[in-house]
Amino acid sequence: MSTLPSSITYAVVGAGIHGLSTAWHLAMELEAKGTGSGKDVIVLDKTGPGAGASGIACGCVRNLYMTEPLHAILRHSVDVWTYDPVAFGFQQVGYVSAGEANQLADYEKLHASQNRVGYHSDLYAGKDAKSFLRNIWPDFNTDGIDVVLHEKISGYAGTRQAVAGLAQKCADHGVRVISGVEVQGYDVKNGRVAKLHTNKGDVACDVVVLGLGAWTGKHWEMLGQPATLDLHYADGKVIKNNDMWTYWRLLEGEVYVHEPYRTADDLDPPVLHVELMTTPVIDQNTGKEIADHTYVYWKNGAERMDKPGVQGGSIPIKLGPKATLDPYGHDNPEYQAEPEFADYLTSAMAQLMPRFKGSRKDFRERPNGGIGAFTPDNVPIFDWILPNVYMIADSNHGFKMTGVGKLAAKLLVGGNRVPELEPFAFDRFAKGRTFGTSNSNCPWV
Ligand SMILES: Cc1cc2nc3c(=O)[nH]c(=O)nc-3n(C[C@H](O)[C@H](O)[C@H](O)COP(=O)(O)OP(=O)(O)OC[C@H]3O[C@@H](n4cnc5c(N)ncnc54)[C@H](O)[C@@H]3O)c2cc1C
Repeated sequence: MSTLPSSITYAVVGAGIHGLSTAWHLAMELEAKGTGSGKDVIVLDKTGPGAGASGIACGCVRNLYMTEPLHAILRHSVDVWTYDPVAFGFQQVGYVSAGEANQLADYEKLHASQNRVGYHSDLYAGKDAKSFLRNIWPDFNTDGIDVVLHEKISGYAGTRQAVAGLAQKCADHGVRVISGVEVQGYDVKNGRVAKLHTNKGDVACDVVVLGLGAWTGKHWEMLGQPATLDLHYADGKVIKNNDMWTYWRLLEGEVYVHEPYRTADDLDPPVLHVELMTTPVIDQNTGKEIADHTYVYWKNGAERMDKPGVQGGSIPIKLGPKATLDPYGHDNPEYQAEPEFADYLTSAMAQLMPRFKGSRKDFRERPNGGIGAFTPDNVPIFDWILPNVYMIADSNHGFKMTGVGKLAAKLLVGGNRVPELEPFAFDRFAKGRTFGTSNSNCPWV
């Protein structure tokens, strides 16, 4: 059990995907440059590794983003996932996304951008899209589907395994990951954080890295940052006094299967994502329309399950600028998926694949859900917020983004430009580079 040092070079706050990945890569960068080692890095977590969203995520690793600069971030992330896929529980089964004709132009654009950065994907339209789906899932109801993107290098990871694997990498490199240490305040001198105030004493530090997930807004406020800001867009549009952080509630669930969920070739299927913006979801038991559009994703449940099944979800629900942060995740009854979510998920699945007809009774009843802090444009912010405080705020869709820690470590140790991170700087909101709205009902694209 590590004890809290009184001073350290790099203090990482939060032992989720980003804190752990950054700490591990910091250790490797310091070793490679001969300027230090993992002994110069600590990770503090008020509870322990995976106590936040990283421990309850669905684990999908994909690159279906209309925000093009994210494509390079995901390319680096897949490099991290495949660095040690066994340790991280990464299953590189691919990712298939299906849409209606209204998304064809967006898919063409993002397909071209993905391939420009070496993130290999194939695009299918019209009849080809339908037959591609049926080759993998012979019972796929392809009505309404006009476009399909197949990301070959995507997949999913077990969340517990990924967190444990990253914590092990930290330990292997001499990084101390210390649980039960809550950062309760910051001693700011001359605009820089000189010390962290924790429940176990003060720690003097040179550089602070924040990987705080849903708790980011709380520390943003502790560091004296503004609660609202003006958003400037490239076309000259300005939105005044926008909330800096907005909480959303993510709903997920698991459905047991009686036959193994496999492809026609008897393989673990790609993660499937379907958004049909004009196709309603009809309740498979009552016959009533429960939504005027379809948005659903699922994959094999793997480590999440106690017996064979799939795990999936839908669009998150907006809460607003305030939310209850603790207790977090499955321990907070306020934010769990309701029975209506189970109706929606199983009906949407049955509508797309008859093999799921009658599956409402197979929905696994247990708490499932958690909240996240989203940025003003729902796109991550990776930037210095004080001269020695670097923030990784992934807008709650970054379990997949293990590559951010790798890139951030280069910046923190080398001090050089890391161009992939630059579009995610905080000053984009003031400088007319706020990311725009995208053609989707979901805030994750
Ligand atoms: C239900 C759900 C499903 C999701 N599914 C996916 C998915 O399939 N794919 C995907 O890419 N993303 C997914 N996400 C989003 C993803 O999980 C998060 O974006 C990501 O895990 C955030 O990682 P993090 O390291 O920033 O924060 P977290 O994992 O939340 O870690 C933050 C840590 O900070 C600690 N902490 C908080 N306050 C303090 C303090 N004062 N002092 C010390 N420590 C503190 C917490 O204990 C916690 O361990 C999902 C999220 C949820 C909620």
